[in-house]
Amino acid sequence: HETVYAIASGKGGVGKTTTTVNLGTALADAGARVAIVDADLGMANLAGFVSLSPDSTTLHDVLADDASIEDATYRLADDIVAVPSGTSLDEYAETSPEGLREAVDDLRSRFDYVLLDVGAGISHETVLPLGLADAVVLVSTPEPAAVHDTKKTVELTDRSGGEVAGLVLTRTRPDGDVSHADLADRLEVPLLGTIPEDPAARDSVYAGTPLVVYEPDGPAAVAYRRLAADLTGLE
Ligand code: ADP
Ligand code: MG
Repeated sequence: HETVYAIASGKGGVGKTTTTVNLGTALADAGARVAIVDADLGMANLAGFVSLSPDSTTLHDVLADDASIEDATYRLADDIVAVPSGTSLDEYAETSPEGLREAVDDLRSRFDYVLLDVGAGISHETVLPLGLADAVVLVSTPEPAAVHDTKKTVELTDRSGGEVAGLVLTRTRPDGDVSHADLADRLEVPLLGTIPEDPAARDSVYAGTPLVVYEPDGPAAVAYRRLAADLTGLE
């Protein structure tokens, strides 16, 4: 099965980190060994979602050749670890994203699933993980601007030799006037799932706890568990 997924988007702020953390936690709860990696090197914030302190060894140190990937790997629960990135510009300046391949290969050999939380946009450090991953999970809200930007991520994935798994629509509303299937059709990719707008998503970030743990019966948590099951067959 696919092991390494890049969680990617064209536009920022659409739910990539939320998806990485909750898809990862749902897979771990289903019995898989999971690593979630903050590959958003410039705007790293995955650590806060899971209450990790960012002043310890991070992926930046690994990519600057100052630490091994093991040193930057932190256990969150029995079956899930996180690799945070640094939050300072000084550390970021030292990194060279090329080393990411080695780090991902190491994680690939030790985990059932590796989820890469990729930065938005079209910069080099964003494109690299798209080609490294076995499959790319596109994340977008239903807004036209976000869907439009997702098209670029599809093109970039093609150009970097990567494979698109499909689209996850986030922050959907029951009264939305666009058909979710149409949006996926427009991008010519499968619709993997929809995650409804849910205030618990933001609350869970303040609590530093994954949504699927913070409010497991809420609509977004239920949708993330379904996505995990549909994507991998694990429940
Ligand atoms: P990205 O990583 O793409 O920048 P985030 O995962 O950080 O996006 O999410 C951006 C904002 O949207 C955060 O404040 C997050 O709490 C909120 N959010 C994400 N998913 C949902 C949802 N399903 N319902 C409501 N708010 C959400
Ligand atoms: Mg993010």
